[in-house]
Amino acid sequence: MSATAENTFDIVILGGGSGGYACALRAAELGLSVALVEKGKLGGTCLHLGCIPTKALLHAAEVADTAREGEQFGVKTTFESVDMSGVNAYKDGVVGRLYKGLQGLVKSKSIEYVEGEGRLVAKNTVEVAGRQLVGKNVVLATGSYAKSLPGLEITGRIMTSEQALFLDYVPSRVVVLGGGVIGVEFASVFKSFGSEVTIVEALPHLVAVEDEAISKQLERSFRKRKINFKTGVKFSGATQTGDVVQVSLESGETIEADLLLVAVGRGPVTAGLGYEEAGVTVDRGFVLANERCQTNVEGIYAVGDIVPGLQLAHRGFAQGIFVAEHIAGLNPPVIDEMGIPRVTYCEPEIASIGYTEAQAKEKFGEIETYDYNLGGNGKSQILGTQGFVKLVRQKDGPVVGVHMIGSRMGEQVGEAQLIYNWEALPSDVAQLIHAHPTQNEALGEAHLALAGKPLHAHT
Ligand SMILES: Cc1cc2nc3c(=O)[nH]c(=O)nc-3n(C[C@H](O)[C@H](O)[C@H](O)COP(=O)(O)OP(=O)(O)OC[C@H]3O[C@@H](n4cnc5c(N)ncnc54)[C@H](O)[C@@H]3O)c2cc1C
Repeated sequence: MSATAENTFDIVILGGGSGGYACALRAAELGLSVALVEKGKLGGTCLHLGCIPTKALLHAAEVADTAREGEQFGVKTTFESVDMSGVNAYKDGVVGRLYKGLQGLVKSKSIEYVEGEGRLVAKNTVEVAGRQLVGKNVVLATGSYAKSLPGLEITGRIMTSEQALFLDYVPSRVVVLGGGVIGVEFASVFKSFGSEVTIVEALPHLVAVEDEAISKQLERSFRKRKINFKTGVKFSGATQTGDVVQVSLESGETIEADLLLVAVGRGPVTAGLGYEEAGVTVDRGFVLANERCQTNVEGIYAVGDIVPGLQLAHRGFAQGIFVAEHIAGLNPPVIDEMGIPRVTYCEPEIASIGYTEAQAKEKFGEIETYDYNLGGNGKSQILGTQGFVKLVRQKDGPVVGVHMIGSRMGEQVGEAQLIYNWEALPSDVAQLIHAHPTQNEALGEAHLALAGKPLHAHT
């Protein structure tokens, strides 16, 4: 079939998740002609199976905790139970409204939305159900899937986040395999909903990519919440009999559970899509791209979870926007991966940006750090949360890492990212006024202290 005008576009995008749809929206804004191909639901993992539904569950979990803990604040409340049909209706309502809004947004722009499974059949052509979409540029944005371990079949009560999001019951005992972001978020939800939870993590710490001080504080908080975890322990197998899952560890121990949640990371969706046949370099399934999101094949770009790096929705958004602007000739600044904010929404929340203490030592040599304990922060005391703000700076230089933990601290990542990305000195931040009493003040206080003029700081 030869390319016709209605099948030829400035950009053909394969995958309508965070990376793909952000690229389509920005490209349309810039007057480029766009085709966006999606086999499932517009919005992808983040909207339907990731960020949004998990954060709705975490909010329901917070409501359950608040009901349990009213007495602490002199309010007589009792926690009765969690009605999963109600929780799911609330969660699905949130997702549904955002989905409708996103569909409307895409419809309102001149984007050719093509439903169906696409495949790259030439370096400038995506085929969908026999229709060939030819792009002056092609953007690969096919996202990721939940991985399992060799020999561990996802079936019945052994599930990944994809099935766990739709449970119609609260399991009494859950084993969570993997203490990374998704694992600790689900562990937090299950515990708040009333399950007995055990996390199994092969690495020495929970959330092992974070600054070690953050991991240790999370572990303290989880111990306090009676969330069990075993770190430095390898999983060896699982069997299902009836409604019971037996989880075996290499240590010889076995744990009995009603549900095994497998949260061992996400792999790229790239197999069988024609990428390698078109000459695109793929490494262990990931599409390699340079800082301009260009693959080795001219005119083919890659964005989002298929590109090695942080698997986060806002990275996908930023890369999608970047590619559209690059193609439109706007010469956008390249994205600094270290400048991408990271939030883990368990209770307590974790928010970070830039280098951990260990990474900064390796990169910059001489560094200084400062930990501001939330014990000195009025709003955190009002909320009854513990935690800290940890700053890492280059000796006599800018702040290169901000690491925070505590209830609701995720929201503080906004200022932290300005500090990191604008290469602020502690004294630059110290002269800014932070409203009292807010948790945001803790960031201000940490910088006051690091600038040599501590206010409510005991160390
Ligand atoms: C449980 C969970 C919680 C998460 N929480 C957060 C969070 O709080 N914050 C955050 O930033 N990130 C979070 N993430 C990560 C976030 O969801 C991903 O980083 C983001 O969705 C990646 O966007 P993407 O566009 O690369 O891929 P995806 O969102 O996966 O989109 C890819 C799209 O491509 C489509 N597709 C694939 N193959 C084809 C094909 N052949 N033809 C047509 N269409 C195709 C898929 O159907 C999909 O819609 C979470 C993920 C999970 C699983």
